[in-house]
Amino acid sequence: MTSPSDIEIARAAGKKPIREIGARLAIPEAALLPYGHDKAKLDRDFISGLETRPDGKLILVTAITPTPAGEGKTTTTVGLGDGLNRIGKRAAICIREASLGPCFGMKGGAAGGGYAQVVPMEDMNLHFTGDFHAITSAHNLLAAMIDNHIYWGNALEIDQRRVVWRRVMDMNDRALRDVVTSLGGVTNGFPRQTGFDITVASEVMAILCLAQDLTDLQARLGEIIVAYRRDKTPIRARDLKADGAMTALLRDAALPNLVQTLENNPAFVHGGPFANIAHGCNSVIATRTALKLADYVVTEAGFGADLGAEKFMNIKCRKAGLSPDAVVLVATVRSLKMSGGVAKADLGEENAQAVEAGLANLIRHLENLRGFGVPVVVAVNRFTGDTEAELDILTRRVTEAGAEVFLCNHWAKGSAGIEALATRVADLADSGTADFALTYPDDTALLGKIEAVAQRIYRAEGIDADDRIRAQLVEWEAAGFGHLPVCMAKTQYSFSADPTARGAPTGHRIPIREVRLSAGAGFIVAICGDIMTMPGLPRHPAAENIGLNAALEIDGLF
Ligand code: ADP
Ligand code: MG
Repeated sequence: MTSPSDIEIARAAGKKPIREIGARLAIPEAALLPYGHDKAKLDRDFISGLETRPDGKLILVTAITPTPAGEGKTTTTVGLGDGLNRIGKRAAICIREASLGPCFGMKGGAAGGGYAQVVPMEDMNLHFTGDFHAITSAHNLLAAMIDNHIYWGNALEIDQRRVVWRRVMDMNDRALRDVVTSLGGVTNGFPRQTGFDITVASEVMAILCLAQDLTDLQARLGEIIVAYRRDKTPIRARDLKADGAMTALLRDAALPNLVQTLENNPAFVHGGPFANIAHGCNSVIATRTALKLADYVVTEAGFGADLGAEKFMNIKCRKAGLSPDAVVLVATVRSLKMSGGVAKADLGEENAQAVEAGLANLIRHLENLRGFGVPVVVAVNRFTGDTEAELDILTRRVTEAGAEVFLCNHWAKGSAGIEALATRVADLADSGTADFALTYPDDTALLGKIEAVAQRIYRAEGIDADDRIRAQLVEWEAAGFGHLPVCMAKTQYSFSADPTARGAPTGHRIPIREVRLSAGAGFIVAICGDIMTMPGLPRHPAAENIGLNAALEIDGLF
């Protein structure tokens, strides 16, 4: 028997009108701005009125190092939110919006899976409430204003060779990575080489996700460095007077979206920054709003814990004054087997030895997470093919490592499959044992921050950065950016910078190839290896299978 696909399950959901979901969090109907019957944004005045309320408990879901076998962070985030509601807690989830690029490429949807999903999944994976469109427009307005400024005489003396603001669109399109603009003669401006990134890589996306409110949003947009003069002094969005119009375009996009899980529990879906050159988690506005409305908020960070959780803690929590109360580390037998050396094609065969070998990866993430001072438990997201012997060795070894481990069946059974984890996580979050600690204080030198992450999280022997990079960091410190956190852009497939080094590599060094200043978002990006800011589509993109069925419903999303 084949189980129904994610979209078939989602389509059969008994969705409730969004006002009923709002009512679960005591949101008055007037504070919901409906987008159809099953999605709503929250009214700005309502959000500001929540400020004096106490915060609920914040629970982070993160995972072991990702492999092509899949871990199911979003699925577990949704399942845990449902599980908490099932045991009588008032809980909401907070996750990212989906990008069209991966949706039509190979990753599939971003709404969870099986019986732990957010609906309407078709909307969430396609246009949703238009936030990404607004972000794309705001980003490209700034790009247009740069070229326009140069065209009309370039009073700011922008060095056309040093324009660092590219264009964006929300699609995987490798053809746009490098382009020449303004061809075609005098009336079209001055040709220059530039390119496109995917919208989720836009600094505007990172800004929207870190901003506290619209005032803060505009201030940050104004700080964006778009180009340099010949004397290398920066030119900001504010100098082009672009920040006001960009904020106008983002006015509604800055409001969190409310939808529901398959079990009719509230889910905030808002923002979606890349997890490499940005911090990879949903908006601060959504998380803070959810914390005011629910007693427990379950949220997800992208990639494995070395990247996602580290940035969630050191960037988002630091900047927004948030402090997690519990962490759930997601692992799957399949993924551990791959970490332990098994090829994807051989995952169907029982191999408890490979699980054991892969556990070194899990244990290291566990130790790292404990370093943040927050209680951690391990959730095993069960796949139907997992065998008793494999689950047994996993449970035994994690217990020996001093951690609690829960076998979870939310993908197959919804909240009924994750009650034990929900009960324990609620207890831990309530216990007040969290004593949140960041990896480095604000006043550590920028290079020292990069070293701290490389050594304490990646367990590298050290970093390799040439004089040019060291000098750049010192220059930024002199220019007043020394207090910023670092956003590490490293492969998600290994603790090291080598994506093929699985498990828990040691003795490696982290090469710092380039550093970038995201002055608006408020972090320094340290690029360790190749990073892709405009992905391509695979040979057979998911788009080939997406379409409308006979009933004109969307098919092929997964
Ligand atoms: P992540 O957030 O870690 O990228 P997702 O939760 O989005 O992962 O899941 C990725 C895919 O894996 C989804 O299509 C989902 O249906 C599938 N999946 C997740 N958990 C399971 C499971 N226990 N069994 C089978 N498929 C699963
Ligand atoms: Mg996810």
